[in-house]
Formats: sequence, structure tokens, C-alpha cells
Amino acid sequence: MRCQVIGSGFAGLSAASYLAKDGHEVDVYEKNSMAGGRARMFQAEGFTFDMGPSWYWMPDVFEKYYAAFDRKVPDFYDLRELDPGFRMYFGKGDVVDLPAGEAAILELFEQIETGAADKLRRFMKEAKEKYDVSMNDLVYKPGLSILEFVQPKVMSAALRMNLFGSFGKYVRRLFKDPRLIALMDFPVLFLGASSERTPALYSLMNYAGLYMGTWYPMGGMHEIIKGFVKIAEEQGVRIHTDSPVESIQVNQGRVSSLHIKGREIPVETLVATGDYHHMESLLPPAVRNYSEEYWDKRVMSPSSLLFYLGVDKKLQGLQHHTLFFDKSLEHHSTQIYDDPQWPDAPLFYACCPSMIDPSVAPTGKENLFLLVPVAAGLEDTPKVRERYYDMIMSRLERLTGQTIREHVIYKRSYAHRDFQADYHAYKGNAYGLANTLRQTAVLKPTLINKSLSNMLYAGQLTVPGPGVPPSIISGEMAAQYIKKNHARLAKGQ
Ligand SMILES: Cc1cc2nc3c(=O)[nH]c(=O)nc-3n(C[C@H](O)[C@H](O)[C@H](O)COP(=O)(O)OP(=O)(O)OC[C@H]3O[C@@H](n4cnc5c(N)ncnc54)[C@H](O)[C@@H]3O)c2cc1C
Repeated sequence: MRCQVIGSGFAGLSAASYLAKDGHEVDVYEKNSMAGGRARMFQAEGFTFDMGPSWYWMPDVFEKYYAAFDRKVPDFYDLRELDPGFRMYFGKGDVVDLPAGEAAILELFEQIETGAADKLRRFMKEAKEKYDVSMNDLVYKPGLSILEFVQPKVMSAALRMNLFGSFGKYVRRLFKDPRLIALMDFPVLFLGASSERTPALYSLMNYAGLYMGTWYPMGGMHEIIKGFVKIAEEQGVRIHTDSPVESIQVNQGRVSSLHIKGREIPVETLVATGDYHHMESLLPPAVRNYSEEYWDKRVMSPSSLLFYLGVDKKLQGLQHHTLFFDKSLEHHSTQIYDDPQWPDAPLFYACCPSMIDPSVAPTGKENLFLLVPVAAGLEDTPKVRERYYDMIMSRLERLTGQTIREHVIYKRSYAHRDFQADYHAYKGNAYGLANTLRQTAVLKPTLINKSLSNMLYAGQLTVPGPGVPPSIISGEMAAQYIKKNHARLAKGQ
């Protein structure tokens, strides 16, 4: 069978490679000039900037992916564990470094709050069980029916463990020191929702983020995309860049073709991995799964205001990953989710990969990436970006005790308008939909088109959710669905 895939992010490359491995002829159509989607990179003035993801968590998912193609991580990059995994600033001189390894983390918790090590031990025992049940029995499911989750192991875990209560309340019952609360809240912030609204099921992210370690592929995160492209090409996948799909034609309950730059590409089976709302907008309204009202009611995970900076000196006081939690997390969260607006006192994140990787910056210089999480759908203007640059640069200089601004020799900003232009991101979102209870598993936008028998969706807006590992799994889920329904799809039914 011939399969067409829209988009060459992690989901598209994963779907394409699994489909090709199953013997299909696969073409990937990508609007941008480089594969990788949100994980693209660019080079300027001797610096190599990763454009999106910077945290390599859940290394088991990458290993499993490579193993499916008889490959291993070292075939593609040199993966190093970071120790400390990350640094958090709570004020000037008030710094916590999260060490690698369970024993050192327990010691850190006990130092900060008496009795916290025991509580963390209990919390992580349960979080590990949630992680194992999720990875073995939940995440690798297409999310098409609630019955997929009705299994003895899952039901027993659901009854014994707090899965659906509020993650935020759960953490605050256990820990009192605000620094420990911030440390525990931070991994679920990745899921793009306030900890209050995130179901406690997602404490599995604490196990993934704190205990399984924070890793880095030397050369940068884009090295992973290079590995994924290599696997896809080895499987015979053809990747067509600069190929924006402008519309999807349908005929008698099936997708019949794609329109790309005046050409009509016939379709046998389609996997659409660009942003879900945009993929649907390419279809006639009658065969879309969801209406505009549906999308408008979704809780989007945040967008981001990003600055890619080249600095002409080595910096002090930063780790590879540094989180600036010197302002109120609750207040910032409110201005993202409850009352969306440009935040008056945002938390922000700095990534400085040149601290351990000399290949991403010229000698003696630093590659610095700053990220401010902000609500999706805000008005994004050059003036607003500049205001935030000044605000966070002043805090960065004050908290780390050095001048940086005058040493910035390269600067590029990136926010809502860029997410829209580059990825057709709905409301300029960065990480898709928030993982709230009402947007989990079967309640997420579904993997299959309900009106068109040969169209599926994959990517961070469908199951299992946002982030690199889930996007990889999502592509695999789409390919698995095609494998299971091959006979029907091949007959054109
Ligand atoms: C700033 C930022 C930081 C992040 N940090 C992390 C992190 O540290 N760790 C982590 O695990 N995750 C992180 N994420 C999330 C992670 O990057 C994404 O969840 C993941 O990369 C999404 O992959 P995807 O394939 O679903 O979508 P995408 O990467 O968006 O790929 C979709 C592709 O479809 C293409 N496309 C769209 N429309 C069309 C069209 N009409 N025709 C042809 N092609 C089209 C797009 O150009 C794009 O290449 C981050 C994301 C961002 C933006």
C-alpha cells in the first residue's frame, strides 16, 4: 500500500518509519525546508541553536524506538546524563541544584525539609508504579475506546492510587517548603497545565523527570531528528521538504488527493501529523472531526516567548538547564490559564548547552536560549517581545551577578506569530493541548477521522499528548492502527 504522511516532526518521522518497516511505500510532505518540526535547528554567527525541545527525558522511549529498527542510541549520538540535572533560582543566592540519582535526591530533600526524604520515597514508589502501568498498559493504546483501559492491572492501580485528584493538592499535602513544592510542580508544568488542574496520575512525570534523569545528546537535540531521518531513509521513506499541503481532497468517504503547490498527489492512506486544528482546516467542513467551537473550548498548553542568544563570553551561575522561580508560580499560572494575559512577573527558563557541549558555540562564547511560558492566543508584537527581553535580562543579570546584555552578539526572538507561520499552530501554541483530566486519553482529539476511512492523525495534539516521547509514540500508534486495519484499507473501504 502507499501511505502519505503530512509533517516531518517526531510524530511524522515515527509514523513514516514504522509504516515503511511494515512494507508500505511512504512519502512525507513537509512545508518547511528542513525536517524536524518544532525540533528544528538553525545556525548563525558560529552558534547552533535548537529551536524547541531541550530536555531529554524518558530515555527508555527513545531506546525502544531505535530497537524497533535494530539500532541503538550510540549509533546516532553520544548521550550524556547531566549532573546536576537542573538548577533552580528562588532568589539571589537561593539556589537548588537537582543532583542525578535517587540517593542524592533523597539527601537533598531531607536537607531542605526534615522528613521529606521518607515522603519522597513513598511518593516515588507510587509514581514509578504509575509510570510502569502507563508505559506498559496505557500510553501505547490508540485511545479509541474507554474499554482499552479496562484491564485488571489498570483498574487495580486506579483503585489503590490517587489518579484523578489534583496533582497540586497531592504535592502540597506532602511537602511544605516552597522550594520542594516548586521542584515537584515543575515536571508537570511540562504537560502544559497548572499543577492544580493536572490529575495526580501525572506524578509519573516526577518519576520520569527526577529519577530517570535529564540527558543531553552531544551536538544538540536536533541530533535526534538527524537519527530519525536516517532511520526513515534507511526504511525507504521519501521526505519531501518545501511541500506545504494546501488542501485535502475527499471523495465518497475517503481522502483522494493532496494539493501541493499546484500538483495533485493521489492518496491511498493518509497520516496527518501537523497541528490537528490546521490539518482539519484543509478538509471540507462536513468531514472534520471537530468544530471551531470545540477548539475554542480546549485548554491549550502555553505558547512560549523565546530568545536565541549568542554571548561573547563564558557565563557564571548557570547550569545547562536553569529555572528562574524567583517569582510566584501561582500568579504566573493564573495569567496563563485563568486570566490569559502577558504576565507581569513571569518565571523563565535558561538553557545553556555550550556549558558542556563545545560544538554549539565558538570557543570562549556561550549559546543561551531563554524561554518565557505565556498564554496561547495573545497579541504578539516586537514591542512586547522587547519589553520581556529587558525584564528577564535584568533579572538574569541580577540573580547570576554578571553583565550579559552588552555581551550579546547574536539575538533572535520567537513567539506566537512564528509558531503560527512556521507550524500553523492554533492560537500560536507551542506544546499543543494541556493534559487536564478532560483532555486525557479517550478525551483527546481522536487518532482517526470519523468520516474518512483512510485518514488518521498523529502528533502532540492527539494521544498520548505533548512532548517528544509522546509524539514518537503517537506516530507508532497511527502506524499500528494501519497495520491492524490493513486488509480493509487496502481494499479501499
Ligand atoms: C519551545 C518548545 C520547547 C519544548 N521543549 C520540550 C522539551 O524540552 N522536551 C520535550 O520532550 N518536548 C518539548 N517540546 C515539545 C515537543 O517539541 C513537541 O511535543 C514535539 O516536537 C511535537 O512533534 P510533532 O511531530 O507532534 O509536531 P511538530 O514538530 O510541530 O511537527 C509537525 C510538522 O508538520 C508540518 N506541517 C504543518 N502543516 C503542514 C502542511 N500544511 N503541510 C506540510 N507540512 C505541515 C510542520 O511544519 C511540522 O514540521 C517543546 C516544544 C517547544 C515549541
